Amino acid sequence: MVKATFYKSVMPGKLWEVCFDYFYPINIMEKQLDIIPLSDWIPKGSSPLVISGPCSAESYTQVMDVARKLAAIPQVRVFRAGLWKPRTRPSAFEGVGEVGLQWLKDVQQETGLLTAVEVARPEHVEACLKNNVDILWLGARTVVNPFSVQELSEVLKGVDIPVMVKNPLNPDISLWLGALERLNQAGIRKLAAIHRGFYYYRHALYRNQPMWEIPIELQRQIPDLPVICDPSHICGRRDLLLQVSQKALDLEMAGLMIESHIDPDHALTDANQQITPFDLETLLGSLIVRQTTGNKEFETKLEMLRREIDKMDAELLDILSRRMKIVDEIGQYKKENNITILQIRRWSDIIFDRLNLGSRIGLDREFLLQMLQLVHEESIRRQEGIMSPGEIMNPEMEKFQEEKDSLL
Ligand code: PEP
Ligand code: MN
Repeated sequence: MVKATFYKSVMPGKLWEVCFDYFYPINIMEKQLDIIPLSDWIPKGSSPLVISGPCSAESYTQVMDVARKLAAIPQVRVFRAGLWKPRTRPSAFEGVGEVGLQWLKDVQQETGLLTAVEVARPEHVEACLKNNVDILWLGARTVVNPFSVQELSEVLKGVDIPVMVKNPLNPDISLWLGALERLNQAGIRKLAAIHRGFYYYRHALYRNQPMWEIPIELQRQIPDLPVICDPSHICGRRDLLLQVSQKALDLEMAGLMIESHIDPDHALTDANQQITPFDLETLLGSLIVRQTTGNKEFETKLEMLRREIDKMDAELLDILSRRMKIVDEIGQYKKENNITILQIRRWSDIIFDRLNLGSRIGLDREFLLQMLQLVHEESIRRQEGIMSPGEIMNPEMEKFQEEKDSLL
């Protein structure tokens, strides 16, 4: 479950900015999905793995022109094209539909690229299977709907085809996981996830917020699952593609899906974010591909530094625990003297003092503000428990209650 919380910190004479924060349930256990590694279903080639092609197939010539140019780029191993486009308004271009499947066959035959198509309805799956599409993907609008995902999983039962699952529009990791689980239960073992960012209701730099912590958490929960980044739908504009692609590689993502078009400005869908094959090649050439592990000397030094971090984390936790014990003592003292828990003046002083101290020792202000807020909330929760025992649920009970609520 995702909770959106607004924090307002009031300083004397100044309203501090509102931080927008998402929480999602962290499942400590790793999920066991039965997954066939990406290297078994996508031929090896230059790194990173790139999936590219137009947002929408528009005409035979447009598809073939872009495919021929992409095939000359060593990193591009899969050709993508949308045939059925999920559009907000019915007057918009909704894709060429089944006729495009014949064009994709020609792409396979002429260029040797694998083909990938978005499917949203069981009929789409059937048409793709009949026409030997190599890879299917579920779009962000489909993954938000478990009924649709279930229907698609059912037609895919017993079919050996790779399926990639985009993240749902909203930042709910459970929906993403749920779609992967449904497909896996239907026997789909060639699975990958695509990170395409999350809808955000305010005007922002990105068309869809990357919220990197969510794909990172997905990777942590299912370590065998390849996660491919889709910078095109995250950015919504060309000039940001390089930095987002680089970040994805630095986070060890398994590849990139980048939309390309022969004449991007005149594309029928997503014109602002598509690039020419030429610009794609330049972008790929500018990426720094780092190794995931280093030589012996590097590993030894890294190990040493990590041990330092482990030690410091233990110290941090010890200090936190001791701080909470004092918080409890204060709570008890306030109770005995019938004093309120939250004293805004004191809280404002803490923020002011700690931010000053933090900035002097090189800590990021935003980070510090969030951390202080978290510690403060926990302190209040503990003191509430002391003031009115029985009324306050412990975190386990709260989680149980939330899960129960979500089933209603
Ligand atoms: C697309 O890939 O063109 C598309 C519609 O993507 P998403 O489902 O991520 O919006
Ligand atoms: Mn698109």
